[in-house]
Formats: sequence, structure tokens, C-alpha cells
Amino acid sequence: MKKIIFVSHCILNTASKVVLYNQTDMDAEENLRKKFMHKAIDQEVQIIQLPCPEFTLYGPKRWGHVSNQFDNTFFRDHCRKILAPCIQQLKEYLANEDWFEVLGIVGVDGSPSCGVDYTCCADWYGSFECREGLDKTFNECTLEKKSGIFMQVLKEMLKENGLSDKVKVTSLFAPEPEKCLEILDK
Ligand code: SF4
Repeated sequence: MKKIIFVSHCILNTASKVVLYNQTDMDAEENLRKKFMHKAIDQEVQIIQLPCPEFTLYGPKRWGHVSNQFDNTFFRDHCRKILAPCIQQLKEYLANEDWFEVLGIVGVDGSPSCGVDYTCCADWYGSFECREGLDKTFNECTLEKKSGIFMQVLKEMLKENGLSDKVKVTSLFAPEPEKCLEILDK
């Protein structure tokens, strides 16, 4: 029987991520990503890559955002459109359980889109020009215990298709490495 896992796009392709000026900030996440990938390959788990909702809307030169900025009907609609074929694939694998075992879905905590248990939040909007207290605005960004918008939509679609109880959704998060590593042992 083939084991299958669905993952956020940048777990396979980090080129889709917001360009960083200080890569060392992400070392812990990158180390965990590599550990997860090595383990999945060693255990012969097949990996299905979800689309990146941000790259497919804003491309590689986008700013870093917070989830509040994506919490609108247009972004949610984009997520729904690009997730539709993934839900179809998921249903088809689940419908053939003699051949396939779907281990679950792994997002990326902290992301405004793909966070599952944590997402970044702040009251960000508007032009930077002539704006005072910009550092304070940036520093007010916090990690909150809720899902990013893409994962919220994904969970809604799982529920609509009666799959919520059948598919575990967890995340890659450096402070809690067991979440993404243990799902591979299912
Ligand atoms: S939106 Fe999701 S897939 Fe795209 S870079 Fe961010 S965490 Fe990765």
C-alpha cells in the first residue's frame, strides 16, 4: 500500500517563499523541513504538493503579509479555486483505500496563508509613504493560535466534502518538530 502526504508548496519548493534578507532567521525551519523531507523519502511516503496561494496571486516580489490582510473574499476565493483539484485528488485516493493510505496534510505554521496552529497577525494596511511609526507597526505583528487563510479554506472544503474526520491537518513548526515528523509514522 502506498502512503501519501499532502504538503504546503514551499515544503518542496522554498523558492516560492517571500524573499528574506536574513536567511539565518529561518535556519531552524529549514533544518526541520530537510529532516521531514529525508524522513518522508526514507519511508517511501509519496508527497503531493499543494499550490502556493501567495506566489500564484502576487509572484516572487510580494511583501511579507499578515493573515488579516488576506482575510477577504477575494483571497479566499483564490484559495478555493486552486484547492479544488487537490480536494478531488484527495477524494480519489481516499476512495481507493486498498491501495492508498493518506497520512494527512502538512502546512507551515506562522504563515499568513498556510499556518495551521499558528498564524501571524497585525493591523497592517495602507501605503508606507510618509507613514510615521513604521517600525512600531511592524513590531506589533504577533503569532496567534489560529489557522492562516489558505488552511482555513482548506478545512472548510474538507468539511463540505465530509472529510474532516478522515484527514489529519498538521504543520511544520520548528518549536514543535514532532507534529510534522510523527505524522509520517502513522
Ligand atoms: S503561502 Fe504557503 S506555500 Fe506559499 S510560501 Fe507561504 S507557507 Fe509556503
